[in-house]
Amino acid sequence: MLPLTWGFLYPPKASKIKTIQRGTDMKDLEIEKYFKLEAERQNNGIELICSENYPSKETREAMASILVAKYAEGFPGHRYYGGCEYIDAVETLCIERLKKLFHTQFANVQPHSGSQANFAAYHALINPGDTVLSLELNDGGHLTHGSPVSFSSQMYHFVHYPLGNDGHLDYEVIKKCLDEDNPNLFLAGYSAYPYAIDFRKMRDLIDEHNKHSAVHCYFMVDMAHIAGIIAAGLCQNPCDYADLVTSTTHKTLRGPRGGVILTNDPEIAKRIDKAIFPYSQGGPLENIIAAKAVAFKEDMEPSFKDYVRSFMENTKACNDELARLGATVSGTDNHLFLLNVMKTYGITGKEAQLKLESVGITTNKNMIHGDTLKPSETSGIRIGFPAVTTRGCTKAQAIKIADIIDAVLKDKNSDLSAYKAQVLAITSTWKDVMEL
Ligand code: PLP
Repeated sequence: MLPLTWGFLYPPKASKIKTIQRGTDMKDLEIEKYFKLEAERQNNGIELICSENYPSKETREAMASILVAKYAEGFPGHRYYGGCEYIDAVETLCIERLKKLFHTQFANVQPHSGSQANFAAYHALINPGDTVLSLELNDGGHLTHGSPVSFSSQMYHFVHYPLGNDGHLDYEVIKKCLDEDNPNLFLAGYSAYPYAIDFRKMRDLIDEHNKHSAVHCYFMVDMAHIAGIIAAGLCQNPCDYADLVTSTTHKTLRGPRGGVILTNDPEIAKRIDKAIFPYSQGGPLENIIAAKAVAFKEDMEPSFKDYVRSFMENTKACNDELARLGATVSGTDNHLFLLNVMKTYGITGKEAQLKLESVGITTNKNMIHGDTLKPSETSGIRIGFPAVTTRGCTKAQAIKIADIIDAVLKDKNSDLSAYKAQVLAITSTWKDVMEL
């Protein structure tokens, strides 16, 4: 028997509690319809957009947790609101896990996205009007790396280092640009660069340049795309060399949509925190921070390294099969490669994307090194295997997918529906996106 007061304080049946109704008790069927349709699209399709991934069920549950209801402006131990003891514990756990994952001393887990992280990072390192040396969008950089349509080019003076003729980074050219442009900030890390990056060499070049330059140049890396590969220890860790590193958490890290910033410099760490709050953001998304913490724990599991190895192998297998079939492809050292559809099939990236989408293969049009077409047309598409490998794609299936891509892009018929069955034969062997 419960004491009388117990039942009074904790009424057993929630239905007896009178609450003010929020409009209607009916489910939002209009929205729910699209949840179902989107899950179906994801389940039936081959997702080759290299910046996408499927977070685990646990990560998605954290995103939908009640932490969403809490305001917590500030940082653990220094909040502008009461009631933050558990929020502080969650955010601290997230920070500690992230630091461990990338071997750094300081981390900020509050950026709402990769773009927000970059916005704050620039503010932490340089002043408006300062010069930033980065890779151009056309060569694989991101919008926030100085594109004319982004805040970045309007707040800072961006200049760009070109890639070598073979589409690889040319460290001699970077050295020359550093000396000629005297930037306040050098930026590495890209959206569509398929090769390994020598961060150690970049650090050496910047140190050498700083010895004789009147302007101190900081070194920033945006590891948004390759963060998972770095976490798995399968390429150089930029956190060992850069002054500041930004990332997204939803691509190869397989977490919720969001951003993070890392550094080993205590002074820069203080400037990062101020640049996030109060400079550029308000209340942090603590439910998303909890989900980041869940994902970082998963990323530390030995199985994550196996997963990263598999998606890199699958990406290479698809690239190599397309090359065997005569296609012009970039090759790959990471999770993505570029297929030059204009040179191979005489169609634009936009047309290729639409053709593939019509059979259930999702890719995105992408500029190719030296592209003469507009960003809305492009000569290429970008392909990567992080998402499908999460669902269980094997190397044999990656090769089969290359064969389907080649056949679809060669096919001049307007009706391509016959290929849909081939796509479904593959996706039906994979895990359901809601159960990962
Ligand atoms: N940095 C790089 C290199 C990216 O590729 C992206 C997104 O594609 C971002 C930043 C921006 O991330 P978000 O879309 O979360 O703003």
